[in-house]
Amino acid sequence: MSVGARFLDQVDRAFDRAASLTNHDPTLLANIKVCKTIFYTSFPLKRDDGSIEVMHAWRAEHSHHKLPCKGGIRFAPDVDAEEVQALAALMTYKCALVDVPFGGAKGGIRLNPKRYSPAELERITRRYVFELVRKNFIGPGLDVPAPDVGTGPREMAWIADTYSQLRSGELDAMGCVTAKPVSQGGIRGRVEATGRGVFFGVRELVSIAEDLKPLGLTTGLAGKRVVIQGLGNVGYHCAKFFSDGGALIVGLSESEGAIANKQGLDIEKVVAHRKERKSLLDAPGATNLARREDALELDCDILIPAALERQITAENAPRIKAKIVVEAANGPTTLEADEILARRGVMVIPDTFINAGGVTVSYFEWVKNLGHVRFGRMQKRFEQGAYGRLLEAVEEITGRRFTQAEIDRLTHGASEEDLVNSGLEETMIGAYHPIREMYKQHLGKVDLRTAAMIVAIDKVATSYEQLGIFP
Ligand code: NAD
Repeated sequence: MSVGARFLDQVDRAFDRAASLTNHDPTLLANIKVCKTIFYTSFPLKRDDGSIEVMHAWRAEHSHHKLPCKGGIRFAPDVDAEEVQALAALMTYKCALVDVPFGGAKGGIRLNPKRYSPAELERITRRYVFELVRKNFIGPGLDVPAPDVGTGPREMAWIADTYSQLRSGELDAMGCVTAKPVSQGGIRGRVEATGRGVFFGVRELVSIAEDLKPLGLTTGLAGKRVVIQGLGNVGYHCAKFFSDGGALIVGLSESEGAIANKQGLDIEKVVAHRKERKSLLDAPGATNLARREDALELDCDILIPAALERQITAENAPRIKAKIVVEAANGPTTLEADEILARRGVMVIPDTFINAGGVTVSYFEWVKNLGHVRFGRMQKRFEQGAYGRLLEAVEEITGRRFTQAEIDRLTHGASEEDLVNSGLEETMIGAYHPIREMYKQHLGKVDLRTAAMIVAIDKVATSYEQLGIFP
């Protein structure tokens, strides 16, 4: 069984476990579970040296109960049909949990981006988009990609440009992809969104004393010892926000190795060191670990896998010392590991909920693209004026003059980034409580992953029931 097939089997089994605890019609559940459509293409790439290489690419749309479909595109060496289907399914459940009105999708091209020049990557990306356009697998009302492992704003800009060139005159063309650079119709706050969402979700979770007591933890993030696997987009932003929130980052791992410091690592210093030396190892104030996998087993309160799937397995789960595992990556814990962690009393915060910040802000970007106006542009100054007039009235009534610093702070009108971060915070906090309630409703019988899946299945099933069957 390929790695992708094992991942798909893991997602399907998680679905089955949750589905068996719902009262929905079994045929409806079977329909929700399967991937609705999958596109495969191979195309030639002319490399910079003139040689030709054949590329393999996929796009899976797991659910059409809401359109467009939404999900990242990854550039990685082991991408296959099953992996994109597994990731597309997770997207369906994730969107449902955070009330983002999209079906789940995922795409990927089998390649190691480090082996290609930027010009080659651009040719690959543009040809892939051309193939997607030809088969109606991309468009603001059809299917809207975003970044994933190995891709970022640069690739999203190429996608937007290729789509706009091919669909000349389409008014909403910019809504064909999200996480674009801000100057290309992107939205402020998207780059940080997944890490920030993880932070908001965990901060909410650790604010409830009753839930932390069985773990032997007190409330609040301050002083909590955190280990993070992966220092890419998600891992870096998790490290930054948790550190800013008062947590101690006591361990970090990357492809080249792992480092630790019980007193807490200085993230910006580590990042600067890695940029200069191309390695985390020997970072200032840090001890190198023997193997990169050892970071996962460090003594800590919160372990955040933020790299790839299937990192916590039946093999290492018995040695995990964290009290809470936060799945910032997609599918980092196998089902076998899940069972071991549950038996050992470790709380696992599932990917379907905790890393949904990225898709949430992508949704805001899509709404912005369809509206053709930046959030905050219409009301920021109006709000500032209204707050200013209120302060003047307070000054008049009380006779107290506000300082300029107070006026600046109190009359601040919401910018695009303020609104995005506030919408993200509201979404992550709002999404956690129904999951927690479901967990409590089935106390002792389900973990948080299953509780989240039940909540997601209920929402998707209700949507399908209301839609009926065509024709
Ligand atoms: P990325 O490519 O920016 O970062 C991944 C990092 O993990 C890289 O720096 C890589 O070197 C490192 N890595 C690879 N193998 C490793 C290993 N064995 N040990 C330690 N580090 C290793 O990707 P990303 O966007 O940060 O995504 C990371 C995970 O988060 C993926 O599972 C992705 O599906 C998920 N995710 C990403 C987003 C997003 O908005 N980017 C949203 C939701 C979920």
